[in-house]
Amino acid sequence: LKSTLELERIYHYITNTLVNAFHVKTLSVFIFEESVKRYAVKYEVGNGPERLMNFQEEKGFYSKIIRKNPVIVLEELKDARYREFKKTIDLFIKNKIEVVVPLNVKDKVIGLLTLGGKESGDMYNDEDIEVLEIIGAQAAIAIENALLFEETRQFGLRLEGEVKKATKDLRAANVQLKKLDAAKSEFVSIASHQLRTPLTVIKGYISMMLEGNFGKIDLRKRDSLEKVYLSNERLIRLVENLLNISRIESGRLQFTFREMRLENLVVSVINELSEPAKEKGLKLEYAPPPKPLPKLRIDEEKIRQVVMNLVDNAIKYTKKGKVRVSVEQEDGRVKFSARDTGSGISGDDLARLFKKFSRGAGVSTVNTEGTGLGLYVAKEMIDAHGGHIWAESEGERKGSRFCFTLPVENNSERIGQNKK
Ligand code: ADP
Repeated sequence: LKSTLELERIYHYITNTLVNAFHVKTLSVFIFEESVKRYAVKYEVGNGPERLMNFQEEKGFYSKIIRKNPVIVLEELKDARYREFKKTIDLFIKNKIEVVVPLNVKDKVIGLLTLGGKESGDMYNDEDIEVLEIIGAQAAIAIENALLFEETRQFGLRLEGEVKKATKDLRAANVQLKKLDAAKSEFVSIASHQLRTPLTVIKGYISMMLEGNFGKIDLRKRDSLEKVYLSNERLIRLVENLLNISRIESGRLQFTFREMRLENLVVSVINELSEPAKEKGLKLEYAPPPKPLPKLRIDEEKIRQVVMNLVDNAIKYTKKGKVRVSVEQEDGRVKFSARDTGSGISGDDLARLFKKFSRGAGVSTVNTEGTGLGLYVAKEMIDAHGGHIWAESEGERKGSRFCFTLPVENNSERIGQNKK
């Protein structure tokens, strides 16, 4: 009995054993269904015409009869004491049940075995009752275990079904999200293309004005025009980042590599950003390498955007002090770094910042200008060059340092393709 958890086999085994031992005409296994207080027939054997069907538990039947007797002989139930259970007792009698063996586990009944009369017509003797008592106790444990196992199995199946359904729902949601994402990317792409042309026109005219092409301009006007120019530049950079995002996402980011020195490019960015730094009262320093660095095979425009984003951020997130930019050679790589004395970055944020749309905690209240795209774009570009980009900071208000390295040797081989 203990060797199996299969209910059917257990029922079969118990009933067969008892039928063979006692030569009973009928034998049924009932399981008590707690929620509906009903004994439900699960298995029956024998050659008698009588079949006891499912029956309701009469109030008190368990406490007064089932719990008290390991084996109940029907003859004894005919006693007047049990009159209140007449309905059940009559049912047993009508179906020629002679013995009922409660299947008790600890303090609860899980079911009953009901036995009809013997083929021989003999009564059940004391020895039979003793055997039934032992078998009943063993059977109850085996059935209880199998029921629990079955319940767990059913639960597992239900869970599996639910997981399957949830997975299906998630897949559908994912498809929907992808569609939405594609629509968003397309919108960003179209909008930024449309924005770029007028911004370039504005830039052109303001440059011409500043250069005096439309006549001399006084100092006050110049000051305002320069501010317009700088704001326009910032807009151009923002649009450029947006365009890059849509190119990256649609796999259209193209690279054109050529040999050049990183320091030249860095110097040109420094020159371009010296004005906004001055506006904020910040020192923008550049530490050139002690000797010329090896040439790198890079996409100039892309790396320029990275340097631009990093130095621009350093200025943007620094209220006072300075920004120091350096380029040097380190272990077969060229290393760029921009260090500032600004707001710094908390440990939690450090790794997160290079993700799309990710901005430092609370930064949007301090610095409203920002989209959280610059570093993501920068990482994509540096990755495509086989390089590495990271941020360092001792914590908030302790300044930060943004670095990237680009490989010198075999540079062209390591360069990644346009990735999606
Ligand atoms: P944006 O500046 O448009 O928010 P970025 O991707 O360039 O987007 O930067 C992401 C976030 O990284 C910023 O919002 C800011 O929290 C943090 N960050 C970037 N550069 C610095 C810096 N130099 N000092 C402190 N925080 C920075």
